[in-house]
Amino acid sequence: MAPRKFFVGGNWKCNGTGDDVKKIVTVLNEAEVPSEDAVEVVVSPPFVFLQQATGLLRPDFAVAAQNCWVRKGGAFTGEISAEMLVNLQVPWVILGHSERRALLNESSDFVADKVAYALAQGLKVIACIGETLEQREAGTTMEVVAAQTKAIAEKISDWTNVVLTYEPVWAIGTGKVHDGLRKWLQANVGPAVAESTRIIYGGSVNGANCKELAAQPDLDGFLVGGASLKPEFVDIIKSAT
Ligand code: PEP
Repeated sequence: MAPRKFFVGGNWKCNGTGDDVKKIVTVLNEAEVPSEDAVEVVVSPPFVFLQQATGLLRPDFAVAAQNCWVRKGGAFTGEISAEMLVNLQVPWVILGHSERRALLNESSDFVADKVAYALAQGLKVIACIGETLEQREAGTTMEVVAAQTKAIAEKISDWTNVVLTYEPVWAIGTGKVHDGLRKWLQANVGPAVAESTRIIYGGSVNGANCKELAAQPDLDGFLVGGASLKPEFVDIIKSAT
């Protein structure tokens, strides 16, 4: 089985202007980073800048949308469908981000339905899971992330195009939950999926801590928020090797 390729995602969230896109992409395009064989880089601008970013970005970096609708498009004002992303040749989508789970009440079942639908349309999915501070303090971290992963596992059978992203701020540097998640996949989905699925980490990753984090066992990359808007994102990409 091929080794899991290091993955670095940059989630620009709801930030920036067209000029900012040009600036960030210029930095990325000029950066000397490890080859495509060593690292997969995906940046996620807001919907309205996806085409601009796609047009400007170097060919070895890809783009992701930050969300998509749960089913086929139609009378769903303000939503963007998976079909539209495919039509624009956007290869990736982030689903289940903690901000959407918390602020927009997206449930695990809803997220899982989105993951299944997006995969069925041919998108690749950065699927986010993670516990709240209260859940962590109650000692239920693994239970919570296992339930979120189970909701997805019940609705998909092929994990090839899924990158599982664990995102709690408190866990920086421990690597423990990644190990638990891989074991969960092994026991509940199967050894091949556990071996091949990339499990990445998100939460305050920056140019200063990325190298140490990248060395954690079972950690196959990052989803980066704040630092993905800054030149230090290049250092984070370089931590792949
Ligand atoms: C995120 O919310 O996807 C994230 C990882 O944010 P930050 O890197 O800013 O903690």
